[in-house]
Amino acid sequence: MASDKAGKPSLTTVRRSQVHGSGVFAARPIGKGARIIEYTGERVTHAQADNRYESKDANDNHTFLFIVNSKIVIDAGVDGNDARFINHSCDPNCESVIEGRRVFIDAIRDIAPGEELAYDYQIQRDADDPPDIDEIFACRCGAETCRGTMLWPAKRAAQKSKRQRTVRVDSASKYRARTVSAER
Ligand SMILES: [Zn+2]
Repeated sequence: MASDKAGKPSLTTVRRSQVHGSGVFAARPIGKGARIIEYTGERVTHAQADNRYESKDANDNHTFLFIVNSKIVIDAGVDGNDARFINHSCDPNCESVIEGRRVFIDAIRDIAPGEELAYDYQIQRDADDPPDIDEIFACRCGAETCRGTMLWPAKRAAQKSKRQRTVRVDSASKYRARTVSAER
């Protein structure tokens, strides 16, 4: 079993996921409310993040961006840890929590060894999203309550309120490169 620097057996292990690419799995029981891992990586501005991934496809697995606030994005593609491999789910067992401009992944229920960890990415919608944006960010989490997309809110029409949108940006939203329209 892998150990962290302190020699304690680590809570998680990374292996191939049925949902998407690599996933992160519980290596031992994790209690509800436990802080599992910090989402680490290089801290860059939104403009830097956009420049970095402008030419890449939205489905590029190597893009791991997490919006911390209106100024900071964490690019886990640079100096990131295993947190970048945690997949999205519409019925997740974890949530992302922003504290002091740092991002943590916490358990929101008891998790058994071998269970895959996931949180709701709640990827923000942009005004200039292409019409097939939901397909681009299609969700295959397999949950009964799967909304079919990693985007939030679930439907375009649902985001009429500007205020709601602002709340989204400030919350724990993760997104991958948003430049698909330029590719076509
Ligand atoms: Zn889903």
